[in-house]
Amino acid sequence: MSTLFPFGWLAALGFVNSCPVCNKITKREQGFICFACSLDAPYTDMWLMRDNPLEQRFWGMVPIERAASLLWYKSQGQWKKVIHQFKYHSKHFLGEKFGYLMAAEFSKGGFFDGVDLIVPIPLHPLRRLQRQYNQSELLAHGISRYTGIPTNFKAVRRTANNPPQAQLHYNDRWRHTENIFDIPNPKALTGRHIVIVDDVFTSGSTLTSCAKAIYKACNGDVKISVATLAAAQYMLQEE
Ligand SMILES: [Zn+2]
Repeated sequence: MSTLFPFGWLAALGFVNSCPVCNKITKREQGFICFACSLDAPYTDMWLMRDNPLEQRFWGMVPIERAASLLWYKSQGQWKKVIHQFKYHSKHFLGEKFGYLMAAEFSKGGFFDGVDLIVPIPLHPLRRLQRQYNQSELLAHGISRYTGIPTNFKAVRRTANNPPQAQLHYNDRWRHTENIFDIPNPKALTGRHIVIVDDVFTSGSTLTSCAKAIYKACNGDVKISVATLAAAQYMLQEE
């Protein structure tokens, strides 16, 4: 039956959509990820755990209220492929949907209770121009749409265009992310609870640097939580 009707037309009319993980056509009411892939999703459940492995990564570095990642970023599998495509290739349209999904799941653990502002990790303006979108901004949009919490895309500025993290060794990542953020208007953040949003947690150096910059600019009068789409499993289990 489906071969008789062009899929593009059906999708355009909103009757069907294609699951980004397995590419199978699904009914729209099933959500943007099909039922089978949802069951198979490498959810971390971190939003239900206090002192979870992600929160522990910030211990002794910078005070963090809560931290959670929606998915584990595993070394293989369809889910790894879809996260990679979102981060590096053209599947930016997934960003807002993933953000919405993050918010829906994290809210089950009260993650956004008392949060005032959603702040994505910024790209350097040159990098943003190259890529034409900031994947963390798209996630932040989706989170905001679900929670109703406002976003602020101008609260943090990236002042240095450090090399892509994936090309660096662990120690170099920390060196290259020191002092790369600037807070132009600390008043917009002082006294508030902010959730910093990033796409994939690897070494945590970028998020730590950003949180430190905010903390310093607000003289410590700020609460910071961290939300990421995915977390590299090997980074959190090595110790
Ligand atoms: Zn699927």
